[in-house]
Amino acid sequence: MKIGNLGEFGFIDTIKKKFADIDSGLSTGIGDDCAVININDNEDLLISTDLLIEDVHFLKNDIGPERLGYKSLAVNISDIAAMGGTPLYSFLSIAFNKNTDTEFLEGFMEGYHKLSKLFNTQLMGGDTTESLKHLAINVCITGKCAKGKAILRSGAKPGDTIFVTGTLGDSACGLKLILNNLRDSKDFDYLTSKHYCPMPRVEQARFLADTGAVNSMADISDGIASDLLHILEQSNVAAQVNIDLLPLSKSFKKTVNIYGFDSLQLALSGGEDYELIFTADSSKAERLQQIFNQKFGLGITQIGIIVKGEPRIEWFGSGKKIYYNTKGFNHFK
Ligand code: ADP
Ligand code: MG
Repeated sequence: MKIGNLGEFGFIDTIKKKFADIDSGLSTGIGDDCAVININDNEDLLISTDLLIEDVHFLKNDIGPERLGYKSLAVNISDIAAMGGTPLYSFLSIAFNKNTDTEFLEGFMEGYHKLSKLFNTQLMGGDTTESLKHLAINVCITGKCAKGKAILRSGAKPGDTIFVTGTLGDSACGLKLILNNLRDSKDFDYLTSKHYCPMPRVEQARFLADTGAVNSMADISDGIASDLLHILEQSNVAAQVNIDLLPLSKSFKKTVNIYGFDSLQLALSGGEDYELIFTADSSKAERLQQIFNQKFGLGITQIGIIVKGEPRIEWFGSGKKIYYNTKGFNHFK
């Protein structure tokens, strides 16, 4: 069988099964945004890693060095946020070919440093090697949270309200403008900045975790069609989502109208929003929304509910059930 048939998540499943015979003690491994490793009676250590490959994850010349450095760390910090944790340290491994300009690497480290400083995460090590062709970047991030308090994907309960932070689809819409060379678009700068410089929602996620009302959470890296499904699979529940409630920015709405982009595809499966999707006790949902929206210059929006059933998403729009066959981003598929 070719990996194209198995897909990214099929492959990860086979890895998880193979290693099920090794005891991981009190720690939780494959399946969440971070591994949660119990280190002492007060705290858990969070660890995650992400690999970025030139021409698969980024166009080197278009993103440019500083934004690439920034984004390489941002997508990792976002996984710490997804657990309600605080980022601690990062490790950076990088492979580049020998024609790479030193200015590019300086710019890369400048962007990486800028975000490290913002979140007070020190770079503690890594590896540097030659690549024969493409630039490859791997970041490993560590973080912490109070013992047993990480918000897992597996905690969603029937009756929970499903929320997302911010708006959906801006990043994918920005990428579409870049790929179609629609640089004259009025919203080009806004949408591409959402694509190139996502802001990890660390403070917001910690606030949400501290309320005690949030039962499950993930960051939106592949689009909610995929990231919500991961929550459902880990929690063994189903979801009903109303597409009329999806939070879309003015820039997004304007741009998809002008160019005739598929707005649902971008908002549900485009990915790389690096917002949070989470489920919370519905009796606390209204209050949570009020407090959050007052506290942060970023809203949270209720988009649906968790229900009993096999892990799948039922989509609704204009009061009717709709059949929208959309999946989030999946490498190899
Ligand atoms: P995220 O999008 O939050 O970075 P992924 O969808 O990439 O998470 O991965 C899903 C889960 O599978 C994570 O828990 C991740 O650690 C795990 N995983 C992915 N690839 C591998 C691998 N090659 N070996 C072991 N675990 C993996
Ligand atoms: Mg994630």
